[in-house]
Order: sequence, then structure tokens, then C-alpha cells
Amino acid sequence: METSMKVLDVARPGVDHHTARDLVAERLRSMGEDGVEAKAAHLAALVSHYGAHPFTPLEQMRQRLGLDRDEFAAVLEVFDRVPELALAVEHGPAGKYWSNTIKPLNEAGALDAAVERRFAFPVSVGLYPGPTCMFRCHFCVRVTGARYAADSLTPGNEVLASVIDEVPNDGRTTMYMSGGLEPLTNPGLGELITRAANRGLDLTMYTNSFALTDATLSRQPGVWDLGALRTSLYGLNDEEYEETTTKKGAFSRVKANLQRFMHQRQERGSDLRLGFNHIILPGRTGRLIDLVDFIAELNESSPDRPLDFVTVREDYSGRDDGRLDEQERDELLHGLDAFMEYAERHTPGMTIDLGYALESLHRGVDAELLRIRPDTMRPTAHPQVAVQVDLLGDVYLYREAGFPDLDGAHRYIAGRVTSDHSLHDVLREFVESGREVEPAPGDEYFLDGFDQSVTARLNQLDQDVADGWGRFRGLVRAS
Ligand code: SF4
Repeated sequence: METSMKVLDVARPGVDHHTARDLVAERLRSMGEDGVEAKAAHLAALVSHYGAHPFTPLEQMRQRLGLDRDEFAAVLEVFDRVPELALAVEHGPAGKYWSNTIKPLNEAGALDAAVERRFAFPVSVGLYPGPTCMFRCHFCVRVTGARYAADSLTPGNEVLASVIDEVPNDGRTTMYMSGGLEPLTNPGLGELITRAANRGLDLTMYTNSFALTDATLSRQPGVWDLGALRTSLYGLNDEEYEETTTKKGAFSRVKANLQRFMHQRQERGSDLRLGFNHIILPGRTGRLIDLVDFIAELNESSPDRPLDFVTVREDYSGRDDGRLDEQERDELLHGLDAFMEYAERHTPGMTIDLGYALESLHRGVDAELLRIRPDTMRPTAHPQVAVQVDLLGDVYLYREAGFPDLDGAHRYIAGRVTSDHSLHDVLREFVESGREVEPAPGDEYFLDGFDQSVTARLNQLDQDVADGWGRFRGLVRAS
């Protein structure tokens, strides 16, 4: 046990190659393996590399190690026989990518289904119920003024209800509500949430919380049936909010809404989990400490039931104006340490999720840049992994495509759910017809960070199969 615990450290930053090799060698010896020295050196290099660079095709790794195909296959066989080595990869700086994204999808069989172009019901179904949004965020792809017509609400909510009824509640598929536009602008939202809760689905809603008022909650008490409510935060004062959302006084209102919501949550003894999504925009890397202060202030509204979580991300949109420059990345590297320590003291018990890229940065390794371009997009997309359904019943293949009138986005509609055509029908037809969407310049912006990670992984798996490494594809697979 002691030996296997140490093997888990092989890909940790700061563990030098000799130590890593010795740790692996010790484990191999305990198994009675022969030729331990050479195998250990190669396995240590393999684990360290994938712990930091998860998208590397196996053939490229073989060449890095300078092994012939038989020698490399022997190394991969040992890797498969020693489960601690896969765990060590997950403990590397890119571990969040493996544990948050790839592992659950591997276990659900969704990635294999996508690679083999087989139908499988998606692991993630997003509902986009909002007909409009009160903000106009400068980084948002939505078309100004575009909204769903008021008369699409009633039939739209019926379609979304049918999707809720259709999703298997076997724990394989998770469902969330987001946008597209702002979910709280849909007056039937509460009923949809209650419907999902009655089916045992643990629903998360992403919202800007501008409309999370007492009036909304009294009209739509079903909001309390959410599993989690995640507020996208666009600044820490009215000026920053206005700069980002163009709405005056929005921060004060969101803050007051959340203070009341937290107070009521405590009074009701509700299990609903509450948290923030915070995107670090250029020029605001220094605000993480203020974020903690803001959360600590909110917690005063419900001292016994503080905020549960915060996720902090860089802007993944891939647009140049969303990128942090060199100096800001440097500041962030130091700022993340201070942030984590400060949060530990002022908001104890709050879960902080830094995601793949920032977690790597926090651990001292600049994450491999994940930039999917039209030439690396997959014409078959990944409906076995995730789809999104809007108010018209249109099923979008990427998370950032589900906005009305968005130029080119209609090409990423797999089909439409109607009263006699289920989500299952739409997706089976899409996959089994072999339909493909030819990517055009700019289409990469339809992919969010999750879509990009999934695309990178599927491309890697395809490459491994094409290179004759199908048996070992992706290195780490379902346990
Ligand atoms: S990012 Fe969200 S809150 Fe901002 S304008 Fe777009 S839909 Fe509205």
C-alpha cells in the first residue's frame, strides 16, 4: 500500500525523473516484474508526460521515448496492468481534465460510441429555456435584439417537458438548464424544474440571477427544487457589471437577490447548492481577493448556510480579446496561491474549482493550449456526449450555438424535437444517417471549453486508432 501511494506522485510537479523512475521500479519489483529498470524509466516518462499533456497521440509518445512498436506496446501493457499508474496520471497538473471530463465520459461509454459513430443517448443534456436576456455582455455571442417570440413559450415548454420525461434517470445522463439566453426569463421555468426533480434528476441551473427576486420566487416556487443554482458573476461592483453587461445598477441588484435567496435558503432548510461561476477577464486578474470578500459578505446573510462553491475559469472562447497577456498570466500564477489561502481563512469549507487550465497554472505548469480550429472540428460532432435543446425544440450540437439568429449556428442543429419526434429519435437519425457538418471559419466559437476538451480527446482517440494503437487508445480508459 505504501508503495502504491508513492506511485501516485509520479506526475506531480517537482518530482524529478530519477525519483519518478525509482517509485515505478519499486512498484514493478513488488509485482515480480522482470526488466524493471528499463520499463520503469519509460513508464515514469509516460506518466509524467500525460499528467501534464493529456492530448498527445500515442504514436508521438512512442517517438519521444525512442522505442520501436513492440517495445512501446510492452510498456503500454504494463501500464494497463498497474492501475496506480493511471491514477498517477490523474494526479498530474492536468488532472482536472482527466477526472472532471474524460473519466466520467469513459465510464459512460460515450467517447467510444462517438469514435465508433454509434448512437448512444447523450451523457449531458442542456435545456435552454430562456426566451430573452436582460444583459448584453460584450463577450456573449448572442445577436442583439434576437429573442424567441412570446408565442413560442407554451409549445416550447411542452417540448422541454417531454425531454425531461424522456431522459433516463439511471445516473448516466445529467441534465442542466442554461442558455442560450437567460433561463429566469421563462415564466414556466419553475414547473419544468419541479418536473425534473419529481423524476429524481439533480438539476443545475446557470443564471445571471438578475431576475432571482422575491416576486419571481413567489410566482415560480419550483426554483427551490433545483439541485444547484450557479450564478455567472460579471464583476464585483456596479461599474464592472455595467462595463461587461451594459446594465446599470445590475451588481447591486444581483447582490441583494442573492442575499435574500441565501437567507430564505437557510430558513427553509433547503438542500439546494449555491455557487458562482467567475470568469477572469483581461484586466481583472487582481480581483480574486475581492471575490472572496464579496462571498464572505454574502455569507453574513446566512451564517449557518454559506455559499457552497465557486468555479474560476479563464475565458475559453478563444477570441483574442479574451486572452490574458503574459504579465497577467504571471500575476495570476501568484494571485491564485494568495486567493486559495485567503479563501481558506475567510470562506472556510467553500469548494473552489479552478478547472483544467488554471489548476495546471496553480501547480506551476502552463497548461497545454487547447484551441480547436475549423480544421480540427469533427464533422460528426459528439451527440453521444452532449446536446442542448432550445425553446423551439432544436437540438444543438455545441453549447455556444444555441442562440436565436446566430449566423451559421443553424447548421449545428441535429434536428427538432416535436410531440411525435423525441430527442432519442432526432439523435438516432442524426448519427445513423452519417450526417456531417462541414466546419467553416468562425465555427470554433460555437464550442465552449467542455466541447473543446471533448473534441480534443476524440481526435486523439481517432489518431491512436489510425496509428494502429486502437487497443491502447487514449492511454487511460474506463476502469
Ligand atoms: S452572457 Fe449570458 S447574461 Fe450575458 S448577455 Fe449573454 S446570455 Fe445574457
